[in-house]
Amino acid sequence: MQIEELLKRLGVDQNHHAGQQLKVHSPIDGAQLAALATHSVEDVDTAVEKAQKAFNEWRTVPAPRRGELIRLLGEELRKEKEALGQLVSMEAGKIVAEGQGEVQEMIDICDFAVGLSRQLYGLTIASERPGHRMMESWHPLGVVGVITAFNFPVAVWSWNTALAIVCGNPVIWKPSEKTPLTALACQALFERALARFGDAPTHLSQVLVGERDVGERLVDHSGVALVSATGSTRMGREVGPRVAARFGRSLLELGGNNAIIVTPTADLSLAARGILFGAIGTAGQRCTTTRRLIVHESVADELLEQLRRAYQSAQVGNPLDASTLVGPLIDKASFDAMQETLEQAKKQGGTVFGGERCLEDRYPDAWYVKPALVEMPSQTEVVKHETFAPILYVMRYQDFDEAIAMQNDVPQGLSSAVFTNHLREAERFLSAAGSDCGIANVNIGTSGAEIGGAFGGEKETGGGRESGSDAWKVYMRRATNTINYSTELPLAQGIQFGS
Ligand code: NAD
Repeated sequence: MQIEELLKRLGVDQNHHAGQQLKVHSPIDGAQLAALATHSVEDVDTAVEKAQKAFNEWRTVPAPRRGELIRLLGEELRKEKEALGQLVSMEAGKIVAEGQGEVQEMIDICDFAVGLSRQLYGLTIASERPGHRMMESWHPLGVVGVITAFNFPVAVWSWNTALAIVCGNPVIWKPSEKTPLTALACQALFERALARFGDAPTHLSQVLVGERDVGERLVDHSGVALVSATGSTRMGREVGPRVAARFGRSLLELGGNNAIIVTPTADLSLAARGILFGAIGTAGQRCTTTRRLIVHESVADELLEQLRRAYQSAQVGNPLDASTLVGPLIDKASFDAMQETLEQAKKQGGTVFGGERCLEDRYPDAWYVKPALVEMPSQTEVVKHETFAPILYVMRYQDFDEAIAMQNDVPQGLSSAVFTNHLREAERFLSAAGSDCGIANVNIGTSGAEIGGAFGGEKETGGGRESGSDAWKVYMRRATNTINYSTELPLAQGIQFGS
């Protein structure tokens, strides 16, 4: 489908958003997809006011009824999975399977949130005082500001929105300036669900198209109870303290530098497949992309041989072609950063395989690269930095403790994995003295998380958790309640006060 047809199908009225401030280009061939008007900083204030009104209504709607809205959103997403997935491919450059996969993730979180809407449990706590009962209640928090990165242009919004809405909160979304069309499409699908739902407040979900200044206003606005920000560590370093300065709550999902350890007992062909998907999938532009391979010296040559062969045969090309495994980088800045990093790696003793630009003749305004495998003599400075491109550094190890130490010796702490058939190694990796990441896997790679688990990482990854498990709690406030049903007024800790 052409872009106009696609947007129309998804319910986006292009005329309504037309303007000259933001030109949207496809990373597939550099062609302009749209020219949009952007929102101003003042528009943020108006959006927050509208959202606060919506909050006052929505917070008193019973949670299972709120879940119904997300059930309807899930239905709209199911109907348009293919179209929205294609738009993700066109705007973010993901291969078709991954674009569709991202929409499937949205559907999955909607299903999860619908169930959750009947399970926002608080505890009942034994009181030390006779005739008393203690409990905790979870209440809606307030307006949730969502700031997202270009590489998961739709799923991250849904992780936040599905939970925020069932938890009783409205959402204001500032998508990446590189991917505003997918955001407008999500909003249009949300509005379809809202129309079918009937009696919900109109401003439960709003999108603000704009650059960093729009995000900054959202971050600083005292009317935004929670800022959920996904992007680079640089962005998080700015956002975190600003939200904290006004005692707001933040949920940060920042950069990763994910490693796979391969031990002597590993199933090497399984490991090679896990590494390949993790390292070159989405052209290395996932927060969970495998960026480091820490391999035991006894199996390194054999594994590297398998990887080189796989790298050579992996088709780089137009992400809309079914046979393509690796699509384009998002833009020239990303390509330049990759080349600069490869130069540094060479200076630090690295041997580079791949990494060069390709398809330049066919797509002069797009940035396709051969994924790079870089053998390093040790974990030097360049390896500790996240470059958002398909670069896999390979380091050899002798002793398992040394491998774990190397895995942990980077500033980021998102995802990690070990390939081993040795029970003790697997358990050590998962133990308190093992991987220090938010995600630690055995015999599967670092990327491709399921929505049922809490997603996020430690250290410079920001500490936030989204999606499954009890991640919903960040979208609610907790009240501890003590009820006295006796005729006495006993004080806690046995304190006697007066007669
Ligand atoms: P980015 O940091 O350049 O931008 C992310 C978003 O933040 C954009 O919407 C941008 O406009 C906004 N922004 C930037 N500075 C801001 C500021 N000072 N105040 C408010 N908003 C601001 O990131 P990107 O290039 O779009 O995405 C790639 C990065 O995102 C990588 O580092 C990747 O690891 C990370 N990422 C992390 C996760 C995760 O869940 N941990 C998921 C996806 C991407």
